[in-house]
Amino acid sequence: MRKTTVTKAIMLHGRNYGEADRIMVAFTKERGRVDFMARGVRKIKSKNRALIQPLTYSDVELIETGGGLDLLTQGVLIESFVRLHRDFDRYAYASFLGEFLIQVLPEKEPDPELCYLFLQTLNHLDKRETPPEVVAWAFVLQALDHLGYRPAFDGCSRCGVPGPDAGVVLWASFEDGTLVCDRCGRPPGGYRLTPELLASCLALEAMDMRGPAGPELTGQMDGVEAFAGQLLEHVLERRQKSARFIRKLKEMRNPTC
Ligand SMILES: [Zn+2]
Repeated sequence: MRKTTVTKAIMLHGRNYGEADRIMVAFTKERGRVDFMARGVRKIKSKNRALIQPLTYSDVELIETGGGLDLLTQGVLIESFVRLHRDFDRYAYASFLGEFLIQVLPEKEPDPELCYLFLQTLNHLDKRETPPEVVAWAFVLQALDHLGYRPAFDGCSRCGVPGPDAGVVLWASFEDGTLVCDRCGRPPGGYRLTPELLASCLALEAMDMRGPAGPELTGQMDGVEAFAGQLLEHVLERRQKSARFIRKLKEMRNPTC
């Protein structure tokens, strides 16, 4: 018998298929990333039309088809994040996060904690006044940490000198996921983290998406974007993931090029 799953799902991406169908990528609570076919949803009369908008949150029923894509049978839209969809910057950063998740999430491996974090992140982008870049990079750093990819930010891995408070410059080694201080020597390919930059990264990592506002990082976001962007590139390259996404990321960080 074909297995049916009823699950909460955040739509990450969709592309049209055939006359009226759409292939969706969703981050589901029960089954992690699932790609599914939504038959006939582009027809005006389809009752599932509202469910397939990227960056919305729904209850969906999916049927496994054995080898092929899952099929959407029915569902109910829970949250459409209206403001996020109407604000160009907010939507751009939310799309960037959706694309990021598509790159890092394995297929059909449940990760309800990360799914919940992403839901809270969309909610924050939709309902709070925190600048969208602060929310987005906070999510990226928190997600990379959750997935085990980011350098341990707790000071020099050799001499133990702590992070920002000690006023020392630390170098992040993406390769072995550690920090090394100036006095212990720069690791090959290390990324220079000033005390201010490290403090900003720590503040973003500690940001509670359910709270009313993110940290104030005036003047620090360029540095954060450059560092977190490079970390992200490293992770994706290691996973041999799409050059297309890395290109998009570079465009996002440097919109004039
Ligand atoms: Zn040291």
